[in-house]
Amino acid sequence: MISTTNTLSAGAGLSNFALIKKAESCHSLTKEEIIKLLEDNSINNNLFNVADNVRKQFVGDDVHLRALIEFSNICKCNCKYCGIRKDNNCIERYRMTEEEIISLAKLAKDLDYKTVVLQSGEDAFFSTEKLCKIIEQIKKLNLAVTLSIGEKTYQEYKDYKEAGADRYLLRIETTNRNLYEQMHPNMSFENRINCLNNLKELGYETGTGCLVGLPLQTVDSLAEDILFFKKLNADMVGLGPFIPAPNTPLQNEQGGDLTLALKVMAITRLLLPDINIPATTAMETLHPDGRIFALKSGANVVMPNITNINYKKKYTIYPGKAGENISAESHKKTVVDKIKSIGRNISQNYGFRTKV
Ligand code: SAM
Repeated sequence: MISTTNTLSAGAGLSNFALIKKAESCHSLTKEEIIKLLEDNSINNNLFNVADNVRKQFVGDDVHLRALIEFSNICKCNCKYCGIRKDNNCIERYRMTEEEIISLAKLAKDLDYKTVVLQSGEDAFFSTEKLCKIIEQIKKLNLAVTLSIGEKTYQEYKDYKEAGADRYLLRIETTNRNLYEQMHPNMSFENRINCLNNLKELGYETGTGCLVGLPLQTVDSLAEDILFFKKLNADMVGLGPFIPAPNTPLQNEQGGDLTLALKVMAITRLLLPDINIPATTAMETLHPDGRIFALKSGANVVMPNITNINYKKKYTIYPGKAGENISAESHKKTVVDKIKSIGRNISQNYGFRTKV
């Protein structure tokens, strides 16, 4: 998968190896320079190694574990790529009770996690009042709380924050407005950006990211995505290859490429050296060692899924999700063993961004 050829690229300006060196020291690249790196597969090993060095220098060898709870697969949105989109009538829907969510948070605490990530479709059943009550109870366990529940109003984000939420994940998915609008019927690109700006303004550790390999997506657009992460000064960036999901409008499209997703991630590490970057489940889904490749190419976070198996199987955003059939306990053990096998440590702290 990873090329070992060591050729210097032709053309005006710096060689691609020199561009990587420049990004390592200045943490900036132009859009054209990013495109050159994304298009040249002969530099991949060097890019991944340098991103790994930058990760080590800025955020160290600790890997932060965040326990993921997928608490509802009910969604009012119709994102064309997503297996839990509203119009997919072929999946069984579920919604956890408040007690089930809290009991999973307690399990996270018992398994020594420091953060829980509450993720769901955009499910209006969970009113601000209900969510705030859940957040407050989880905070009493001395856990950090990350939310990943989609687009909300400024006031809703403010209420969750006041209830104790620490972080929020909302991928921009793509910064190409046309592609965004095609992929997200009845959603607004402006609103997505507003949501991210509001989260930043409210003091959340704000995570964003994109899908790599969406139909009609270009390298140019991926370069814009990376520059967007930098402009937003995202605290976390999660990148995932697009994986076609059955019973969606994109079910017959070609999926994203793992190497390209890793390259987007590695360049993001060069430009935002001190942020938290997860080795994502979608990467592990495409290759059994996808998370290891990611951890060796700039990532420093893993989000093991602690959702009960019967629910986890129904949170089918894409097929064959890594870790779908294993319990929270075994999943944690597998992830910890893998991390230790590459000489990295399990973080014992909350893993907030320390800005350098
Ligand atoms: N509703 C929340 C939101 O929109 O942010 C969180 C749930 S959403 C399912 C979480 C992420 O799943 C999305 O940001 C998207 O990038 C990813 N996702 C959805 N469908 C996918 C697919 N087919 N392949 C890879 N990732 C996918």
